[in-house]
Amino acid sequence: MLDYHLHLWEHGPGPVESTLEQVAAYCERAAAAGVQEVAITEHLSRFRQADRVLKGWWDDDPSPALARAMGTSWEEEQGADLDRYVEVVLAAKAEGLPVVLGMEVDYYEDRMDAVGELLAGYPFDVLLGSVHWLGSWCFDNPAEPAFAAEWESRPVEAVWEAYTRALEELADSGTCDVLAHPDLCKLMGHRPPVPDEWHARMAEAAARSGMAAEVSTAGLNKPVGEAYPAPDLLARFAAAGVPFTTASDAHRLDRVAERRDEVRSLLATVGCTSLQAYRGRRPRTVPLG
Ligand SMILES: [Zn+2]
Ligand SMILES: [Zn+2]
Repeated sequence: MLDYHLHLWEHGPGPVESTLEQVAAYCERAAAAGVQEVAITEHLSRFRQADRVLKGWWDDDPSPALARAMGTSWEEEQGADLDRYVEVVLAAKAEGLPVVLGMEVDYYEDRMDAVGELLAGYPFDVLLGSVHWLGSWCFDNPAEPAFAAEWESRPVEAVWEAYTRALEELADSGTCDVLAHPDLCKLMGHRPPVPDEWHARMAEAAARSGMAAEVSTAGLNKPVGEAYPAPDLLARFAAAGVPFTTASDAHRLDRVAERRDEVRSLLATVGCTSLQAYRGRRPRTVPLG
């Protein structure tokens, strides 16, 4: 069992320090839950080094309200030092802790080359690819009124279509190794009555890119109340030969490795007995355990 999606910091303003003590505490909690290895995967968008390359990517959005909200939330969460983050996780690895160096990389339309160049300067083990925003609409942040209101003005099929197109572009960019929370577009509970077409495209995108798909319990804590991916999408990934990682997407210690039994049950439904781990961005198969 793995927990290959862990954050050091909560969303919103707050301290963004990296410490060896926090990484060690995550490893200890994960090990107690039967997890063999964790990946620390903070959001790229929180680091000053990313700000220098990407700041203002929202400026072209045709909606001034969404662009403004994106700019504000970006600034609010900024300020971490990528060099320090990498140094701390590498120090934990050097001490023999069961941890690898990762990053949750958001999809930036037309800017993935610049993102790839920035990331190439660091010895990452695994990169998660995530679609969190469509244009400058951060659809998974309903705490921001402009983002929440947008759900009311778009037909659900249009949201799923835009999300799936972004996921296909992210996969085809070859920038990342794992599709994080693959059907995140369902998080508020809005789904097309028949999502088959979009599920099929998500599974094809993963299969042709060689990416793994993440099985994440984070969706159980959202309005949708279901793990990512949905059972139908999980089955499509398995049928297409897409390997899996497992994840909690915890942002604090008490959620690290939560609900591992539910992950195990989900994987059992598709006959999955092994997971994909990574070292230096090279995949290796490990037993589910
Ligand atoms: Zn995410
Ligand atoms: Zn995350």
